[in-house]
Amino acid sequence: MNWSISTNITHGNAAAKDIKKEGNKLIVLFSADPHGGTETLWWCFRIERKKEDDIHIIRLVWKHYYNCLGLNRDNVTMVNPVVRYDDGQWKRLPSPCIQQNPGGSNYAYWEITKPEKYIDVAFCFPHGPNELKDFIYKSKWNSDSIGVSQKGREVIRVSNNYGSDNNKIPGIYCIAHQHASEMSGAWVLQGFLTEIARKGNNAPLVWSIPILNIDGTIEGDYGKDPFPWDINRAWGHLPMRIEVKACMNDISLWQSLCKPLICLDFHSPGACEDDGVYAFIPTVDERKKQLINLFADKIAYFLGKYSANNFKRIASYPSRFKTDLHMNFTKFCCQHNLLALSFEIPYSRIGEKILYIEDYLEIGAKIADAICNFKGEL
Ligand SMILES: [Zn+2]
Repeated sequence: MNWSISTNITHGNAAAKDIKKEGNKLIVLFSADPHGGTETLWWCFRIERKKEDDIHIIRLVWKHYYNCLGLNRDNVTMVNPVVRYDDGQWKRLPSPCIQQNPGGSNYAYWEITKPEKYIDVAFCFPHGPNELKDFIYKSKWNSDSIGVSQKGREVIRVSNNYGSDNNKIPGIYCIAHQHASEMSGAWVLQGFLTEIARKGNNAPLVWSIPILNIDGTIEGDYGKDPFPWDINRAWGHLPMRIEVKACMNDISLWQSLCKPLICLDFHSPGACEDDGVYAFIPTVDERKKQLINLFADKIAYFLGKYSANNFKRIASYPSRFKTDLHMNFTKFCCQHNLLALSFEIPYSRIGEKILYIEDYLEIGAKIADAICNFKGEL
C-alpha cells in the first residue's frame, strides 16, 4: 500500500481504521475513538502518500457515526468536517453522502481530491497549544503556569493585567477546553481574548485558562463524560481533577486582585445542533439569577444573527453525574459569590450558514463587546 493513515499528530483520534484501493480511488474507513470514555464525537487524523501512484480521489468513510453525541442515522448531513492539504489552510467539507449497508451499519462519506503528500482531516477546526501560542505572541499578554495536569503537562493562564490588592479593576475569568475537543467553544474564547487584547487599556482585567484539559486536547480525547470523571463535573468541595484544583486556586487569587464582573465557560453542543449560540444560566439565588440574566440578555442582543432564538437555557439534559460532588464550573463560581455563564457554540452551522474560524472569532468579539458594555452598571 502506497498510503498510510495515522493518528500520531496533535489532536489525533480515529479507531477501526482501514485503507484500501479500488481502481484509482483510495477508500479510507474510520470511526471516532472513545479513548476509554463513555461518548464519542471528535476525530482527527492524517492520510499520507508514501509513493506515487494512480490514486486521484480519496473516499473518507465515517463508520458508526450514529453512536456519536447528538447524531442519529438521519441527521449526519448537518455535519461539515474540515480538511487541510499539505500544511495549507483548513477548509470545510460539504454535507456527507450516506451509504446504506445490509445489516444497518450505515456509513457517512465524502469524496475529496488527493493531496501532494498528505492531508489532515478532522471533525471541526482544531484548536490547541499552537493556537494559544499564536494568541500570546500577538497579544503580548502575560502567560503563567498555574499547575500541572493529570499527566504532568503545565496548565497555562493568560492575563492582560495582574491586578492589585486594592481590588478596583473590573475583572473577568474565562476558560475553555474543559471538554477537551469542543473546538468551536475554544475558538470563540480565542476571539473573546483577541477582542479584549485589541481594546488595550480600556478593557477589564481578564484572566483565562484557554485549555483546561490540556492532556485530552493534545491527545485527541473528545472529553465529554470521559470515564471515570468529567472535568466539568469535578468542581465539588473536594475537586476530582488536579486541573480543577489548580483553577480553583487561581480563581481565588483573581478574586482578591480585582473587582469580579463575571466568569465564563465556553463549550460546544451535540454534533449537529444548528440553532445558534446559547447560554446555560446556572440555578442560583434570585439576586444572582437577575444579574446573570442581564448579562445574558445583553450578550444575546450583541450576538444578533449568531444567537439562538432560545438563548437563555437551564441545563436539563440527562447527566451521568448527579451529586454535589459533581458540581460544574458555573455552580462553583456562584457558590463563591461570583456570577457565571457557560456558552454552547455549534460546530458546523447556524441554520444555513456554515461556520468558519472567522465566525467563531467574531462571536467571541461580540461577547467581549457585550460584557465590556456592562462596565460600571453593576
Ligand atoms: Zn462541554
